[in-house]
Amino acid sequence: MDFELSDEQQLVRETARAFTDNEIVERARQNARAKRFDRELVTKLAAQGYLGSIVPQRYGGAGLDHVTYGLIVEQIGRGDSAMRTVVSVQTSLVCGSILRWGTDEQKARYLPQLCSGEWLGCFGLTEPDSGSDAANQRTRARRVDGGWLLDGAKMWISLGNHAQVALIFAQTDPELGHRGLACFLVDTSQPGFRAQEIEHKMGLHASDTASISLEEVYVADADVLGEVGRGFRVAMSALDGGRLSVAAGCVGICQGCLEASIGYAQQREQFGRPIASFQLVQAMLSDIKVRTDAARLLVWRAGWLRDRERPCTTEISIAKLYASEAAVWCANEALQVHGGAGYVDDHPVERWFRDARVTTLYEGTSQIQQLIIGRALTGIDALAP
Ligand SMILES: Cc1cc2nc3c(=O)[nH]c(=O)nc-3n(C[C@H](O)[C@H](O)[C@H](O)COP(=O)(O)OP(=O)(O)OC[C@H]3O[C@@H](n4cnc5c(N)ncnc54)[C@H](O)[C@@H]3O)c2cc1C
Repeated sequence: MDFELSDEQQLVRETARAFTDNEIVERARQNARAKRFDRELVTKLAAQGYLGSIVPQRYGGAGLDHVTYGLIVEQIGRGDSAMRTVVSVQTSLVCGSILRWGTDEQKARYLPQLCSGEWLGCFGLTEPDSGSDAANQRTRARRVDGGWLLDGAKMWISLGNHAQVALIFAQTDPELGHRGLACFLVDTSQPGFRAQEIEHKMGLHASDTASISLEEVYVADADVLGEVGRGFRVAMSALDGGRLSVAAGCVGICQGCLEASIGYAQQREQFGRPIASFQLVQAMLSDIKVRTDAARLLVWRAGWLRDRERPCTTEISIAKLYASEAAVWCANEALQVHGGAGYVDDHPVERWFRDARVTTLYEGTSQIQQLIIGRALTGIDALAP
């Protein structure tokens, strides 16, 4: 067993760490305060190659493996979960799906634009009445000459207001249940496609989240992603990649909490000495450290399996479940180490605490990850109708 990162992986990690510290950290606080989706920073991420890390170079990506991609995402997640969400959605959910299921024409048309950041993409699976029960899509696709007309609504769609292309999942034949689903590559400038910002979120203030309505939105046959009837498989395979990316970002939150808490505990004095000298404070630091290391190793294992194209849905769910719960826990504990100072955004723990919370919800809640793990353990699918 070899836990050593290669020279290239170490270099990529150090570069991502420096980029995060120099370009992301300070803007993260300002963008969160202003509730601003920072398109300029997204362009910088793209210029670094961080929007298409796992896409082959012939399509404009960086051609990296998943472990290395995870190292980048961890660093960006340490800096700003809003920007990490952009990376996860664009790279894993959108590019990853086109890479796996797209035709040669679709890959050539979309991937270079997405990797360069020229276009943004969004992933439209969740609906007002279909969240965890993702197979139960209400959005309808009706057959017309040469293509399809989409009608319905999507909810909680990251990047939905800024995306040029939307992956929209829809039901082509309700009688077929999840075997009637299809995934469509939708041009968002089409008439009938309307996105609206969802306001007043608890966290991720610098991330764009949209509700989308679709009224007779036309999609040509050439823009069906994968086969009609296999949309559910497209969605589930996309979520494997997306969950790994979210988990890596959560490791970044944990690591950020650890570093900030150590730094604060060493310089803050009470009772005439640094609070780091108190055993109860050291207990908090060590508990954050243990969870951070455990989460990172689970992410690395899942990435390692994926790079070898071995089955890893369960291991990805384990990593996502553990890392997201750890991020929430570590952010809470780090805030405790900071005392009252942690309750305002002078320190990043305030933002980590709010931003971490969504990670146990999106890309499948913790309960859904537990059911995926439980299915692997028992052979019984609690999610089956
Ligand atoms: C900021 C943000 C960004 C998002 N971005 C995207 C995006 O880009 N694209 C996208 O498609 N979606 C996105 N989502 C949606 C997200 O994936 C869903 O919120 C999530 O899947 C849960 O669905 P729901 O909110 O409808 O909750 P529900 O499914 O209604 O779940 C409510 C509660 O019931 C539990 N529950 C449900 N079913 C079961 C069961 N069978 N067994 C046990 N417990 C169960 C859940 O775990 C949860 O605790 C985003 C959400 C947020 C908040």
